[in-house]
Amino acid sequence: MSKDDLHINTRVLHDAWTAEAVTGATAVPIFQSTAFAYETARGLEDVFVGRDAGYVYSRMGNPTLTAFERRMNALEGGIAAISCASGMAAISSVVLALAGAGDEIISGKSIFGGTYSLFHKTLSRYGIVTRFVESRDVDAYRKAINDKTKLIFVETIGNPMIDVPDIRAIAEVAHEENVVLVVDNTVTTPVLFRPKEAGADIVVHSTSKFINGHGNAIGGIIIDCGSFAWACDRYAHLTDFSRRFGGFAFAAFLRGQICRDIGSVMSPFNAFLMTVGMETLALRMQRHCSNAMKVAEYLEKHPAAQEVRYPGLQKHPDHAVSFKQFGGMHGSLIAVRLESRYACFGCMDALKIVQKVANLGDVRTLVIHPASTFCREMNVEERVACGVSDDLLRFSVGIEDVNDIIDDVDKALGVAGC
Ligand SMILES: *Cc1c(COP(=O)(O)O)cnc(C)c1O
Repeated sequence: MSKDDLHINTRVLHDAWTAEAVTGATAVPIFQSTAFAYETARGLEDVFVGRDAGYVYSRMGNPTLTAFERRMNALEGGIAAISCASGMAAISSVVLALAGAGDEIISGKSIFGGTYSLFHKTLSRYGIVTRFVESRDVDAYRKAINDKTKLIFVETIGNPMIDVPDIRAIAEVAHEENVVLVVDNTVTTPVLFRPKEAGADIVVHSTSKFINGHGNAIGGIIIDCGSFAWACDRYAHLTDFSRRFGGFAFAAFLRGQICRDIGSVMSPFNAFLMTVGMETLALRMQRHCSNAMKVAEYLEKHPAAQEVRYPGLQKHPDHAVSFKQFGGMHGSLIAVRLESRYACFGCMDALKIVQKVANLGDVRTLVIHPASTFCREMNVEERVACGVSDDLLRFSVGIEDVNDIIDDVDKALGVAGC
């Protein structure tokens, strides 16, 4: 039986994984070493120039990172994976590997605030222009493509809009024009969705969220799905790498130049925490999703909820896309509009179990008021595009007993006078 035939609950534990060669340790050892020694000058040279496999210096690679990368790569079905210090480091590195001054990228509007700021503010200073389009409007992506376009970026579930773009349809548009599709799979993870199967070329994650799961380390990863033919005019800067590395041109350029030069590397200790966290990913996602469904159903019936956004609800405009794309699970993120900002703050302050935290994908249930926190740099127009109003709360539902979560929210809404 090939490991590809195994189910995800088994694969997160056994895929791309062997006990450590020397001692048989079943957990990945933390190679907390900056550099790696060689017997001879020639031996070091061979590894340095890539004639031999091996490690030189941990900014360029480390065995603990390799273990984590192999596992993520297996789950996403890629040909190569490169871990990074954070989700933002992963996204920045992908863009810098594909686009330069004078180039353009296209992005859905309903994306993570940090990514929005990177595209809108930081990259524009370096001559990379982002064209933002309505995340679910497939035609808008098509219209925004021109000769300068180097990638299309989309998230699987926008947050806090909680909208679900049809990735397969967007991939078709991208490929009609030979443009790379980059999918941020942070909030769905390979348990709900493998972007490669819908046509994505590159997958990125903030592994700080569900992959780690326990809120104890920042990290990111880039997976090359191996589907894109890099030897083409649009990516002329990769010509040399295409000649040398064929289908691995992008991965080689990313690892051997961009990530090395930027220094976006993950620490071995964080890779260890990610690897341990990942072992329970499938189990956690099932619980996150079933709990979130119940909390959303509870909120939907509550008179104080002006609007409940959760793709698992029949009423959600993207319910059908979500169902088809994510196989009946709909994630852990819920956005709910109460009467006012005052009601939101009152509810948050009264919560006892649900924590007020700027994070998502933790095993604990978290709540945040986006308008006063991660969306505060946005102007009114941008907030509308991202579905952020002053009366909006966003929950990331954890894996506690769901009755305790609902009880906590119910009491808090009561205290807030909702
Ligand atoms: C958190 C997040 C990021 C950024 O990741 P960091 O690890 O915080 O740098 C990117 N995309 C999405 C969807 C996220 O939720």
